[in-house]
Amino acid sequence: MSRGGEFGTISRGALPARLGRVAQLLARLPGVGEKTAQRYALFLTTTPDEGTARELGKELAALRDHVRPCERCNNIAEVGEDGRTRCGICLDSRRDGALLCIVARVQDLLAIERSGAMRGRYFVLGRLLSPLEGIGAEDLPLGALRARLQDADEPVREVLVATPPSVDGEATALLLARELGAMGIQVTRIASGVPHGGDLEFADQVTLGRAIEGRKSFG
Ligand SMILES: [Zn+2]
Repeated sequence: MSRGGEFGTISRGALPARLGRVAQLLARLPGVGEKTAQRYALFLTTTPDEGTARELGKELAALRDHVRPCERCNNIAEVGEDGRTRCGICLDSRRDGALLCIVARVQDLLAIERSGAMRGRYFVLGRLLSPLEGIGAEDLPLGALRARLQDADEPVREVLVATPPSVDGEATALLLARELGAMGIQVTRIASGVPHGGDLEFADQVTLGRAIEGRKSFG
């Protein structure tokens, strides 16, 4: 029997330790169980295409040094040669800087981008207000959001709150409407259509596109 069952169904010693370590690390990824992790580790070890494992290793080693949150919107971005980190959307001059879409997570931003309905820029909160989990207003990046909205180079006319239609998402939307309304900015909310409690990430593109086009004044 393996120690603590760390390699699942494979007994201790059946796998080289190095391969086992890779499998254990892969098993930490969301949605990857122990068996899948072993399958990936074995594939990387035995596939005739050696480059896959070598390139993956090289890219993973560099990832945390070169990819960080965008300093302007918290979207994921590559660190530039000047040491600044700005994402492709913040750098895209064709975007409408007067419209700012607030989302909870980078995955939500990507889902909205897939719908093609958002022509403005974004701000990623990173988390939602959650009284049950003890996450209060002070845990949200409201200072950074205010600073972003006060940037004279790119005045924002409308903030579209695209937090998910869950209890925490609605609580966050209400907080933002109160905070930003006081700054004289028009606050809108994505229209219903995304199922309540649903995840923007899993809403289909047409539904999400309609929810953005049909947004309503809020707060
Ligand atoms: Zn950005």
